[in-house]
Amino acid sequence: MSSVLPVYRRSNIVIARGEGVYLFSTEGVRYLDFAAGIAVNALGHCHPHVVAALKSQADTLWHCSNMYRMEGLERLADRFVERSFADKVFFCNSGTEAVECGLKMLRKYHDATGNPQRYRVITMEGGFHGRTLACISAGGNDIARKGYEPLVDGFDRVPFNNLEAVKAAIGPQTAAILVEPVQGEGGIHVATKEFLQGVRKLADQHGLLLYLDEVQCGLGRTGAWFAHEHYGITPDIMSVAKGIGNGFPLGACFATEKAAQGMVPGSHGSTYGSNPLAMAVGNAVMDVMSESGFLEQVNKVAMTLKTGLQSLQQSFPQILREVRGMGLMLGVQLGVPAMEMVERLRSRKLLVTAAEGDVLRIVPPLIIEETHVQEALAVMSGVCKEWQ
Ligand SMILES: *Cc1c(COP(=O)(O)O)cnc(C)c1O
Repeated sequence: MSSVLPVYRRSNIVIARGEGVYLFSTEGVRYLDFAAGIAVNALGHCHPHVVAALKSQADTLWHCSNMYRMEGLERLADRFVERSFADKVFFCNSGTEAVECGLKMLRKYHDATGNPQRYRVITMEGGFHGRTLACISAGGNDIARKGYEPLVDGFDRVPFNNLEAVKAAIGPQTAAILVEPVQGEGGIHVATKEFLQGVRKLADQHGLLLYLDEVQCGLGRTGAWFAHEHYGITPDIMSVAKGIGNGFPLGACFATEKAAQGMVPGSHGSTYGSNPLAMAVGNAVMDVMSESGFLEQVNKVAMTLKTGLQSLQQSFPQILREVRGMGLMLGVQLGVPAMEMVERLRSRKLLVTAAEGDVLRIVPPLIIEETHVQEALAVMSGVCKEWQ
């Protein structure tokens, strides 16, 4: 442990393996995993279809570079174009890289359309977009930024869900508006319909691009393929990652033909991006999520979980202040320290994670069933009773 760069506060349990919605420690203790590697293991651990796809690809081809055409890449891009607003997809290896691709693309768009002075991006307080210098500069988290100055210039932060503030921040150098439809790290804050539809309209009126970061809330997490579908709008650019690879490093930047027009050979790239292993996994995840009834089941089980949390909230209003979120991206505003709650739940074999502002973040695998929901609610109820 002492040789590992200490940028994470790790719990002392050592995870040995995972199966479905459960994780097992080296000591053989079984945990119900409602953290899912922070909204990553959408299909749970070691989903047989995804494992089979990865194993078969491992025997065939790992890497050949983007110098060549690849079937898995073209197939996955085509499938996402069919499933979304996008005309073009770029694959990379993480959420941060997906966000960075979009940040570059939005500058390139304005450069290519004769407005190189437009480079500034309006971002949200409480936003999280990853860990590169540009991404921490775009994000709203001061701890993530501390000591890394000078930051990347070109980000104007405004309060989330405040349309007037966005309007007031638009100037001659503004290029785009960057929003998470549901803020994850920031504490599970859901964009209002009025806000997201409003920023779409503002972007159109002022010739700006609307850039949605769906790294956490995309890919079925909110009960729709992409969170913006709940709002009846589409973005110009969107970043996704987390659930798309189910744990295999994979991210993607989606764009309309118009927004992508500046991106030409040489303007962006990635050695590992769209490598055959990642594409095999992405296609396999897509197979499962496309099965009929998959999202219906997510919505059904999510309703049970949310209703159960709300009724727990009413029983323990001092401990559980408010339940927020959409689909299986739920947050509970706590009246007690979130890390202590996480630890108490863990000692009762339920894994969840915390988000900013003492929020308990509940982002289980999308494949959970009613029994897992009841199991989790019983643990939470027990911890709340003990805490009173
Ligand atoms: C997790 C996250 C990122 C960063 O993804 P990494 O894979 O950690 O680089 C970016 N944006 C949002 C909304 C995220 O939740």
